[in-house]
Amino acid sequence: MRGISGSWLLVGDGDSPPIRDGAVVVDRAGAIVAVGTVDVLRGEYSTAAWDSPRGAVLMPGLVNAHTHLELSALRGQVPGGQGFAPWVARLVALRAERGTDADSDAIAEGVSELLRAGTAAVGDVSNSLGSVPLLGGLPLVARVFAEVFGLTRRGAESTLEKTRALLRSLGALPENVSVTLAPHTPYSLHPDTFEGICREAVEAGALTSVHLAEHAAERAFLLDGTGPFLDFLRSRGAPPADWAPPALDPVRYAQTRSALGPHALLVHLTDARPDELALVAESGAPVVLCPRSNLHIEVRWPPLDAVLGAGIRPALGTDSLASSPSLDVLAEARVLRARFPHVKPRALLAMATGWGADALRVEAFVGRLAPGLTPGVLAFPHAEGAIPADPEAYVLSERASRRDILVRPTGTLAAAERPV
Ligand SMILES: [Zn+2]
Repeated sequence: MRGISGSWLLVGDGDSPPIRDGAVVVDRAGAIVAVGTVDVLRGEYSTAAWDSPRGAVLMPGLVNAHTHLELSALRGQVPGGQGFAPWVARLVALRAERGTDADSDAIAEGVSELLRAGTAAVGDVSNSLGSVPLLGGLPLVARVFAEVFGLTRRGAESTLEKTRALLRSLGALPENVSVTLAPHTPYSLHPDTFEGICREAVEAGALTSVHLAEHAAERAFLLDGTGPFLDFLRSRGAPPADWAPPALDPVRYAQTRSALGPHALLVHLTDARPDELALVAESGAPVVLCPRSNLHIEVRWPPLDAVLGAGIRPALGTDSLASSPSLDVLAEARVLRARFPHVKPRALLAMATGWGADALRVEAFVGRLAPGLTPGVLAFPHAEGAIPADPEAYVLSERASRRDILVRPTGTLAAAERPV
């Protein structure tokens, strides 16, 4: 066993206060044995190999609940600032121009970046499922969402069939990776396929994921079939939807299509209004916010105050490198700290750790420094004798620029936890 002590220890659950002179004992496999103060634990675990006391704040490994590793080759190359439709039009054009040959190398680099950031769990949305073998066997757990889109019935059914064939071709999954089908968005998938995937997740006891209420163009399209997304479809010569707009807001539409509940991770909600957030909270649906992506594409902040006010404990995600400068989810918490200084640092850190693990349904493995879990241990050093008065605010500040990974998380999902 190994004992590690710090000036402070942050549990990551959003409730527990920081532990001054905190320490953690881990076993050979990286599982947490005990958490407490160094004085007490040194006495109780005197035979453990104790690291010399560090001038550092300790916390669990990070949870990046939403990204698209497959778009990593587009890092920094898709300009934003003009809304979703122009952004996605540029993305699609670039993908068509460049092809997908560089994807594998870029995904591998993205995965390395996740590991360097101290990521213990990731939610990855994928069309090609090219990330699955590259995530396999690494010291993190991954929930991969096999994304399905297709606005017309025929388009949707054809993509669904192709995606099912891809899933079958994967064979046995790595122990640290789960894969489930996921609807892309309400405005890019035929309603029957959308509902079918959600119902399948409920029946399998699995977690699916959907981008929801990301922007005003989505609302316009669902209300009356018009707006920038219709213009985008027309500019591409895509066939029009073969279903009538439901004349509902995104959240109520999701509700009618079995997408509102604990089985569906709702990504973004940037355009959601308070009454819609109340419905989300009531449904028990997990939520992921991706502030830097929203800022890049829409120049808009997610409604964090309203989300927290509704009683939702959101996760954070970086979204892809096509709309975000890095895959470091702590950077998401840091931009929120700057924009929402009244939100408790403890909550912002939980969004990048424990609450993220809850949202991804990996809380039995990572996200908190708690006995039995294998979340990894990160250390944010500070100058000797300059112990931060508020360690949570310190970790969220640019002063905590260095991060050491003292213990790697253990990347294993229990077999029972691996829906296919
Ligand atoms: Zn996304």
